[in-house]
Amino acid sequence: MSPAATNIFTLTHNSKLPDLLDANQQWCHETTQQHPSLFRDFNANGQTPHTLFIGCSDSRYNENCLGVIPGEAFTWKSIANIVHANDLTCRATLEFAINVLKVNKVVICGHTDCGGINTCLAHKRAALENTSNNHLFQYLQDLDDLYHENKAGLLATTNNVKVQSRTLSKLNVQKQINNLLAIDTVQEALARSEIEVYGLLYDVATGLVEQVSENK
Ligand SMILES: [Zn+2]
Repeated sequence: MSPAATNIFTLTHNSKLPDLLDANQQWCHETTQQHPSLFRDFNANGQTPHTLFIGCSDSRYNENCLGVIPGEAFTWKSIANIVHANDLTCRATLEFAINVLKVNKVVICGHTDCGGINTCLAHKRAALENTSNNHLFQYLQDLDDLYHENKAGLLATTNNVKVQSRTLSKLNVQKQINNLLAIDTVQEALARSEIEVYGLLYDVATGLVEQVSENK
């Protein structure tokens, strides 16, 4: 939030459970007014999402950036949208979304100004080791590797940290797409022409999404 901005958010750090419950009632009322049949005729009778949306856990975006409403996207968010073949949550999510729910689109949507990426860019990851954030230190290893693999190119292109961060976010989406394409569940669905895979980048400063990787 810029210093001059008036708060526009629904809840704050001071909000307690009654505030959350009130906010839910309000949201439910507004959503029902906008889509009177959504809960009663659609969501109450199961889900048939068309898209698996994999994004960063960042609070500034989610599958709603695609204009969808509840029931359209199965979602998995992780810090810096990292996809690992040895991550049980990742593998289970892919199997359920692709094999059971039968989504026909898998999207990895990274974003600009990513905290994980900025931590590596600013050489702040090492300071997390053997602290109360040691798991975060371990988790960011892949991003740090990606940064060092591309450091020379990033520095040669620009000294603007925001541009470097955006470029690294795109490279990370591409890397995670490659990781995704190496997983058998995805390979088999692609071979059967049951899914398409898209790499996207969400701009937190504009709300717009751009394509990052080739369609698969
Ligand atoms: Zn992020």
